[in-house]
Amino acid sequence: MNPVDPVDARVSARLRTVLPFAIRLAWHADRSRLLLVVGLQLTSAIGLGAAVLALRGTLTHTVSLSDAVDGASLTALIAHAAALVVLAALGGVVSDVVNSQELVLSAKLEREAVGRVLDVSAHAEPYQFEDPEFHNRVERAITASQHQPMILLFTALSMIQASLSVIVVAVTFATMVWWLVPLIVVAGVPTLRTLHRMRLAYYGVHRDLAENRRRREYLQQTLTGRREAAEVHALRLGPLLLNRWQADFADEVGRRSALAQSFLWRQLGARALGDLVLLATLTILALATYAHWIALPTTLTAVGGLWLLSTQMRSTSSVLASTGETTLYINDLRLLTTNTRPPALPEQQLPHQCEITATGLGFTYPGSPAPVLHDVSLSLAAGQVIALVGTNGSGKTTLAKILAGIYPPSHGEMLLNGQRLTDTRTLRSLSTVVFQDFLRYRMSVTDNIAFGRPGVPIDTAAVTRAARLAGIDTAIDALAAGYDTILSKEFNDGADLSLGQWQRLAIARAYYRNSPLVILDEPSASLDPQAEAELFAHIRRLFAGRAVLLISHRLYGVCEADKIYVLDKGALVEQGTHDQLLADDGHYARLFQAQASAYVSQTPTMN
Ligand code: ADP
Repeated sequence: MNPVDPVDARVSARLRTVLPFAIRLAWHADRSRLLLVVGLQLTSAIGLGAAVLALRGTLTHTVSLSDAVDGASLTALIAHAAALVVLAALGGVVSDVVNSQELVLSAKLEREAVGRVLDVSAHAEPYQFEDPEFHNRVERAITASQHQPMILLFTALSMIQASLSVIVVAVTFATMVWWLVPLIVVAGVPTLRTLHRMRLAYYGVHRDLAENRRRREYLQQTLTGRREAAEVHALRLGPLLLNRWQADFADEVGRRSALAQSFLWRQLGARALGDLVLLATLTILALATYAHWIALPTTLTAVGGLWLLSTQMRSTSSVLASTGETTLYINDLRLLTTNTRPPALPEQQLPHQCEITATGLGFTYPGSPAPVLHDVSLSLAAGQVIALVGTNGSGKTTLAKILAGIYPPSHGEMLLNGQRLTDTRTLRSLSTVVFQDFLRYRMSVTDNIAFGRPGVPIDTAAVTRAARLAGIDTAIDALAAGYDTILSKEFNDGADLSLGQWQRLAIARAYYRNSPLVILDEPSASLDPQAEAELFAHIRRLFAGRAVLLISHRLYGVCEADKIYVLDKGALVEQGTHDQLLADDGHYARLFQAQASAYVSQTPTMN
């Protein structure tokens, strides 16, 4: 593959959309500092022109003083030399100030840009996270946020400064050797072109490696994480995972070094060509001086100016050359952070009780060939505990996510209190889900419970009550800092809980949320049998008045449910109360009998 191909097109066109975007970012980040930096950069360009004039004045008066000493020339020499020294000193001060201001601006710009990417992620729809391309885009945008907007701004500033310097020096030279200016500019062109192509090629590699980088990050986390440590070490997986990480990294290093190799010769050639043009310019200058077409002070000033300009051209050319690459990175950032957020839900009065009726629900995961749910119809009502049972992979969790409004169904209709639901996101505000693989937030106990109701002040009495009802209060009281304890051993003074205790904490969070629809996906998976029995007996009281959907593959826990739906291979195959389903002697009865006999014949195990 030629890495230049996909990204080669029209830097200038991209620049027209990307540069205003970067300026707006900087403007939002810190407008006064941006203006200060721009102002100082422009001032220093003008200072450069003044310095060239002062240099010529100094040299002219030095030469005339070498012919004959006179007071006026001496005064003029001192004045020009002093101006030169002052301008150089001021230039140094300005550059120090610019550098320090740029550091702050750069940090603020990074916060603004990364913040926007995180904002997109925080507001993205859950189904977008099923798409690997979404993760690649976020990864690329995060990388782009870190330095690229600043690089582009500096490039723009350098371009302005460089063009101003060239204009200023050209104007100054106009009275002397104006024809030098195009030659100096021409000398920079070959390097500029090569660097530009090289940067584009590097971007191509960067873009192709987004997934490789995410895989490496995952391996890094697996190798260094506390939670992963026990299993990774027990299985002695470390060397194998490290080898995979090495192989992925080797892939990136290999591609980068192949590029570096192939561009090295082109870079050297371009540099030699540029140097030849400069050499030719100097030779012409020397010959012209020898033939008395140009006065010696002018020649010396021209050599100084030439050196100044070519140094500046060299340093800005590498920045300039990166423009193409930078615009591509920022374009990734721009595309992700503009227009991708779904429209906000209109403000609405949410009901305190809910009845949900779903008809003909079907669902296919993005990127999956076959549907995982077909024609599912069920209803949930306030004050009822409805159970959903089925073997692993039958679609219970997927159905729970649809009923909680996390994924919109691919087919079918849902009614909320008799009204057709047009935006399933409404369900998210009305529901609580305790997922099977619930999150264990590495934050305080209070946070872990109060996250159930974000955006409102924490009600500590309700937090304690939720903990008590979920049966986790005694364990919390035993922690050194009680409800303020950070639940992670990776932080100072942190503590950890057992899996069963974490599960109770998740139930406390659900209780604290106080929503009319409660979905519990295998809520007892990590509880010991006694605690599990207590929880099932307790659920009706704990969530009284709410519509509760209880998912379980352990059937004896759901016997008491008002209605049981049996899911098999994505379709509802039976429904009824426990007694009705046993009497029907179908799928449920067979599952129940199989589990009951297994349970009786086994010694109970504790977890
Ligand atoms: P259950 O909760 O009953 O164990 P799930 O709802 O988790 O079942 O899964 C139902 C089916 O959907 C399974 O075949 C599973 O492989 C598939 N599935 C689950 N999650 C995803 C996903 N994120 N992308 C694609 N397929 C999925």
